[in-house]
Amino acid sequence: MEFSTIKGFKDILPDEVGNWQQLEKKARRLFHVFGFNEIKTPVLERTELFSRGIGQETDIVSKEMYTIPDSKGRGQTLRPEATASVVRAYIQHRLYQKYPVQKLFSIGPMFRHERPQRGRYRQFHQINAEFIGDPGPKSDADLIILCMSLINNLGLNELKLQINSLGCLKCRPLFQHELQDNLAQKEDALCEDCLRRSKTNPLRVFDCKVEGCRQIVSKAPTISDFLCAECLDHFNALKSYMNDVKVPFAIDHSLVRGLDYYTRTTFEIQTEHLGAQNAVAGGGRYDGLVKLLGGPDHPAIGFAIGMERIIALISEQHDKTKINRPNLFIAAIGEKAEIETFQWVMKLRKAGFWVEIDYAAKGLKSQMKKAGRLAVKKVLIVGDDEIATGKAILRDMDTKNQDEVDLQDIINKLKELLL
Ligand code: AMP
Repeated sequence: MEFSTIKGFKDILPDEVGNWQQLEKKARRLFHVFGFNEIKTPVLERTELFSRGIGQETDIVSKEMYTIPDSKGRGQTLRPEATASVVRAYIQHRLYQKYPVQKLFSIGPMFRHERPQRGRYRQFHQINAEFIGDPGPKSDADLIILCMSLINNLGLNELKLQINSLGCLKCRPLFQHELQDNLAQKEDALCEDCLRRSKTNPLRVFDCKVEGCRQIVSKAPTISDFLCAECLDHFNALKSYMNDVKVPFAIDHSLVRGLDYYTRTTFEIQTEHLGAQNAVAGGGRYDGLVKLLGGPDHPAIGFAIGMERIIALISEQHDKTKINRPNLFIAAIGEKAEIETFQWVMKLRKAGFWVEIDYAAKGLKSQMKKAGRLAVKKVLIVGDDEIATGKAILRDMDTKNQDEVDLQDIINKLKELLL
């Protein structure tokens, strides 16, 4: 029997890992200048953390969670997103006692039992940022600009930023009420899920992918007409901060983003290059979540960037001819040469050079073939005779030039030549 990955799960192969490392490196550098600290939380949490935090009627909680009971039958779930876990850690460790404002980021795998397709997996990776302890709108602008900067720093410039305000607990119920009345008139055309949602949590009808339901919500009232004065001020101030620093955006009043915890600002960064899975990043304000999960009443805003989708976009524009090449291959022929050169290899590696050898130590022809396959820059050819005479050949694999090098003080000489 041959094993392969489970449906919706995938390997990240050595050829792809370079892009992942670049992405993480750039993200970490940007988080540093924006004052964010890394946090790592477990991938398994109590199921209730997500069902309470994200909301029962959301797609994630109602159908996509990987839940495994513990020995006492209590639910444990592989995290489908990061915010609830980070907020749990913020409360559990009372991070707010140390600094009143916490700016945290995390990078890691998430798990959702969705129907796999291009850009949608059951295990995927996110870069997450959470800015806890400030009501905004300056922190909203700061966080959205951070998210856009990261994407632009990767050379991805054709992405569009959409923003919206979902109102607060004061004004949103008025909208929900109006929406409920509106949906009640179209009950016959709603799918089974939306019929239920229209009564329990009408905002979630906006998440539905069924064409009939999408048609209905496109004509339904939008939150923009119901925002209270405070929410309107908040949204206007956010827009003006964004305009001041010339970060372009569009307003999309139907952007509700499939999780219950959002309040006021929501945003999404979209591309036209990935087919149906057009969102590469998204986020929003979640002022009530810390309290809902048992902590103090602290406001917060966060985002999640989908790493697979970013990598797919980077790979499209990546120069495939650019490959990493070893600095040197040492071809050793004969017992003495093998023993001697093995020590050189270790010394050169210690000095930071990527040096390769043939572990099976076959003849010169097969070693040169291996060096060619590895695309090394230079090959040092050393036999027992060379060890005896103290001179060997260094071949440049690009120019085919060969130089005789003195084996005395070989390490320093190689360092010089390789630099
Ligand atoms: P969400 O946590 O649903 O707001 O998603 C934030 C980002 O994570 C999205 O914009 C996607 O880039 C990415 N994402 C969400 N679900 C998946 C998935 N199943 N597979 C790959 N990426 C995903």
